[in-house]
Amino acid sequence: NRSVDQISLRAHELLTKFYHHIFSHAKEAEQARSYLENRGLTKETIERFQIGFAPDSNELTTQFLQKKDFNLQELISSNVLARNDQSQIYDRMRGRVVFPIRNHLAKTVGFAGRSINELEPKYLNSPESALFQKGKLLYNFDLARSELKRTGQAILFEGYMDVIAAYQADITNVIASLGTSVTEHQAALIKRYVDTVVICFDGDDAGINASYKVAKLMKKAGCQVRIATLPDQLDPDAFIKKYGGKRFKEEVIEASSTYMSFIMSYHKREFNLKIEADQMAYMRLVVDEIAQLNSALDRDRYIRELAKMFDLSPDAVLEDVDQIRKKQG
Ligand code: ATP
Ligand code: MN
Ligand code: MN
Ligand code: MN
Repeated sequence: NRSVDQISLRAHELLTKFYHHIFSHAKEAEQARSYLENRGLTKETIERFQIGFAPDSNELTTQFLQKKDFNLQELISSNVLARNDQSQIYDRMRGRVVFPIRNHLAKTVGFAGRSINELEPKYLNSPESALFQKGKLLYNFDLARSELKRTGQAILFEGYMDVIAAYQADITNVIASLGTSVTEHQAALIKRYVDTVVICFDGDDAGINASYKVAKLMKKAGCQVRIATLPDQLDPDAFIKKYGGKRFKEEVIEASSTYMSFIMSYHKREFNLKIEADQMAYMRLVVDEIAQLNSALDRDRYIRELAKMFDLSPDAVLEDVDQIRKKQG
């Protein structure tokens, strides 16, 4: 008698191969193949990430699994297949390019299906289960793990394609959350492997706002935080495709901002610093942020920077910072 977890693991392992086989050989996957080719993925990359295609039919996946000695009931109760209101059993990933999501032991525990025909949603993830907890997993963690340790640095992306594009460009200390915001659990996991995390989210407003939130979270987890910002609303995968991995490394990763300089420019967007009242409000915000820094060296550095920006004495800024720190105990 197999447990739900055992069934799920075995089914995901078999389906990974099945989808990948279909992707590589089936006539009906032609569109999927040219889709990924147009996005610049090589055969080797597609192999390494075991990217697949789920046939656009409910029978094929079901028949494949039944031939492998699963029964429908256990496939549904372990969330591998779904059942709709009319009691029809279907494959959630059907018609999509499939990215297997592996856990830290390199076992597939879920899938992300990318729509290639404008069908919403753009990405469809497997449902949450005991083995597939999106707040606990990090995409590509198994492949990146040794590189995280070796380099002491993690590059954290928003998307699967960002990880894959970077990996293909030989930037291998790369991970992503699973389309959800980063959790404390994930932050703690990253901190166990690296000192420094470079947050590299999309260059749109959503990406910049998420960078701010995640920067705070990673800082709280005890990491050195750097924030990379991308030009022209590009995302990492688009940047790499357009300019290549070398320029990505030099102009995005190595040029990333420190935590406080990102915070300082982030808050600038909310104010018109030509107006005195706005200047005051901005300074208060930044002083508050500086007061949160644990390192006295860090605080000193940004106190000087802020003082210089508004032609104040560093002592005055320090006094305010100290006052806030006292209040917070
Ligand atoms: P692509 O390059 O294929 O368009 P992307 O990674 O750039 O994908 P974004 O829109 O930037 O896609 O979203 C970042 C991440 O958020 C995705 O990789 C995915 O994990 C998640 N995501 C995006 N859209 C959805 C959605 N509609 N439902 C669930 N998750 C999504
Ligand atoms: Mn985005
Ligand atoms: Mn993106
Ligand atoms: Mn993208």
